[in-house]
Amino acid sequence: MPELRLYNTATRRVEPFILPEGQPEVRIYCCGPTVYHFAHIGNLRTYIFEDILRRTLQYNGLKVKHVVNITDVGHLTSDEDSGEDKMEKGAARTGKTVWEVADFYTQAFMKDIEHLNILQPSVWCKATDHIQEQIDLVKTLEDKGYTYRTSDGIYFDSSKFSRYGDFARIDIDGLKDGSRIDMGEKKNPTDFALWKFSPTDKKRAMEWPSPWGVGFPGWHIECSAMAQKHLGQTLDIHCGGTDHIRVHHTNEIAQSECANEKPFARFWMHGEFLRTAASDKMSKSSGEFLTLDVLIRDGYHPMDYRLLALTSHYRNYLNFSFEALDNARESLRSLRKKTDPLIGQGGSIGSAKAKEWQAKFREAVSDDLNTSKALGILNLMLKDDLQDYEKSALVRDFDSVLGLGLAQPLTVVREASTNSVDATKVEALLAERATARKNKDFKTSDRIRDELAAMNVVIKDGPTGTTWEVKS
Ligand code: AMP
Ligand code: ZN
Repeated sequence: MPELRLYNTATRRVEPFILPEGQPEVRIYCCGPTVYHFAHIGNLRTYIFEDILRRTLQYNGLKVKHVVNITDVGHLTSDEDSGEDKMEKGAARTGKTVWEVADFYTQAFMKDIEHLNILQPSVWCKATDHIQEQIDLVKTLEDKGYTYRTSDGIYFDSSKFSRYGDFARIDIDGLKDGSRIDMGEKKNPTDFALWKFSPTDKKRAMEWPSPWGVGFPGWHIECSAMAQKHLGQTLDIHCGGTDHIRVHHTNEIAQSECANEKPFARFWMHGEFLRTAASDKMSKSSGEFLTLDVLIRDGYHPMDYRLLALTSHYRNYLNFSFEALDNARESLRSLRKKTDPLIGQGGSIGSAKAKEWQAKFREAVSDDLNTSKALGILNLMLKDDLQDYEKSALVRDFDSVLGLGLAQPLTVVREASTNSVDATKVEALLAERATARKNKDFKTSDRIRDELAAMNVVIKDGPTGTTWEVKS
């Protein structure tokens, strides 16, 4: 069997991946969605990469315990521990409570995952279900002398962790000299909040008591606390998008390694960004992004997008365009013309030639997840002179990694998360209506209500804001 080789961000090298002696399963933690908005197709590219990783480990005979978190508190709009809480921002935008917002976007995300044939993790864990674990970890850091208090929270003192800048190759001294960041009461530019106090002048929708006062956890602590609870103090692989390297993962390492005095993860893997012609990254905060539902409404199948994601290596940028998506759709159609007649043929990979194709495929995916090469091997194999039952067995085998659903007839998928209503549009209209009402512009607010009614959307104004649902 070829060895499995994976790129490790920590060392900036492709390295053999070997499970430590006696360990029964690979322990993977992936940073999950912040559920204040829909996942965009850039986020989904990262989850597809993580799914390919999981499937490749399993293809290589390894058992996997895979944990993904749901961030439903604490993620502020700025990485510098300032700005609004994204969940509260989501609540203000939609007129729902923070809990309703979290629930709504979590459900929408689950549908996206299902549509993209992404395997369910072994554990989904929510930040708000792990407040005590986060408090306990902050307490450990406090007891070991890594924290300090300011007027707005408990902070991690990054100067006490000498390896702080190593992971992201940050020039800490240069940062201090040239820093124009507003540090507030922070001692060092790279210090970060572990626990934030609730403001004294207003009540937050999400807040908890703690040994330091009522407040809420900083964003980074949730991943350290939940990873440790569900997978132990040293993970085999920790994943996320490349944007997490510099701040979020650097801070996770600092907290976990100072608390536990052990390496936090043996491998770190990061998916590169999906970008569009208009911007070099697709982001939720800009409000301009494409969701899977939008693609489905435009007549694409989720597998068209999955195939597009697999045509590029996860460590390279992927430039999204509808032309590229059209090409992926065409490729999937022509692939299915060859694989559909093979569905249900049974058979096994018996002949030497079939085994050779399987070995080539395994080598490609085991070479740091080279999915574009693996797709090329699938196409070449289908042209080779093999028995149909062998081709059928090889398609099933390869698809256990590619996850394109080639071993079953193509499913019919309808946009799902919102009963075929464009929720992004509904929310934009609700935000417009909220502004109009604030300005006492009732003509505009009535017009928007009528527009929503025409879309079959019923709205209810309540004490905590406006909620909406689709009339069935
Ligand atoms: P978020 O919901 O913003 O916390 O992000 C969820 C995941 O998507 C994280 O692993 C991010 O690093 C990743 N991500 C964010 N933007 C993009 C993008 N444009 N392309 C690929 N991955 C992204
Ligand atoms: Zn995380």
